[in-house]
Amino acid sequence: MRVLLTGGAGFIGSHLCRLLLEKGYSVSVLDALTYAGNKENLQGCDELGDFAFFEGRIQDRDRVSWIISDRNIEAIIDTAAETHNDRSLLSAGDFLDTNVQGVYTLLEATKDHRLKRFLHVSTDEVYGSTVDGEFTEESPLEPNTPYSASKAAGDLLCRAHFVSYKTRVIVTRGGNTYGEFQYPEKLISLSLVRLLQGKKIPVYGEGLQRREWIHARDHAAGILTAFEKGSDGEVYNVSDSNERENRWIVDRLLTRLDLSEDLIKRIPDPREGAHDFRYSMSSEKLRKLGWTPQIDFDQGLDATIDWYRDHREWWQPTIEDAGYQDFMQRFYGRALGDDL
Ligand code: NAD
Repeated sequence: MRVLLTGGAGFIGSHLCRLLLEKGYSVSVLDALTYAGNKENLQGCDELGDFAFFEGRIQDRDRVSWIISDRNIEAIIDTAAETHNDRSLLSAGDFLDTNVQGVYTLLEATKDHRLKRFLHVSTDEVYGSTVDGEFTEESPLEPNTPYSASKAAGDLLCRAHFVSYKTRVIVTRGGNTYGEFQYPEKLISLSLVRLLQGKKIPVYGEGLQRREWIHARDHAAGILTAFEKGSDGEVYNVSDSNERENRWIVDRLLTRLDLSEDLIKRIPDPREGAHDFRYSMSSEKLRKLGWTPQIDFDQGLDATIDWYRDHREWWQPTIEDAGYQDFMQRFYGRALGDDL
């Protein structure tokens, strides 16, 4: 099948791109190469099969239409998004533009070109936070940040398109994802590149927030299972059962890198009211389609730590970028002070 993969130069998109090519799909990537997109993430893809890269935005209807016609696209998998909560708290315009308008544009293209499938990749964060229990696909959407609200809006547009036009839509909602090629702004990747520079890592409060972690390759395989075996109009949670407190994660990074706890800097939570305490989802529905996560969390995390340690050339240009330094200054400057 000939697939248009949006956001393929990002973290999860690049893992999914390799998986699709390995399974024999023809893959055309459309990516705007925002601060989070990196063509290096797709290195070697042209040797794996029929692969093409197009720079452009998913909101650009003409560009999307042209690629669909030129490459005889049969289906779209959408991983393109603005993805960082903390950035959305500083300014949400790009989030609405890409995560709402962009999704709508892709839905319209799916309808107009009568594509066989539109799979929209979303997040557990649309359900909001829970103290106990697990979210199912039936749980209400209660997003708490501009990021998660924009993702929920994209999910609802998918639902509306399915109901209104019978567009062949599937939504997946993934848990916190870790692994190689993640831009260094989220807990694991940010902490790793700071530790590897000998810098302190910011931990919000006592670090008691809990997240459920899934490796990017398992997340990609879950998306592909939903794409191949899921039913039109359905939502599938993609989660692994690795629930950990943030401070557990940080301790593990320090231990593996043989570094001291002195490198932890506890800071007041810059997310304030918007910091979800706990995410947890049931992925029984997807598991019934034959998917199970394959990567043991301890082993996957150790391999990720080793990868960042051994691939300084991948992340060093990022942290030298003026845009990255500006974000770090704006979000963490006051709390980290001289430790920034
Ligand atoms: P990422 O930030 O690493 O990559 C996003 C990619 O999308 C980048 O390559 C960027 O250049 C591209 N992009 C952004 N705006 C675009 C636009 N307007 N047009 C075309 N391309 C654009 O993101 P990620 O972490 O790989 O997340 C991928 C998807 O998975 C997102 O929908 C995200 O909400 C979802 N998700 C992520 C996680 C996680 O922990 N990372 C967890 C659950 C769900």
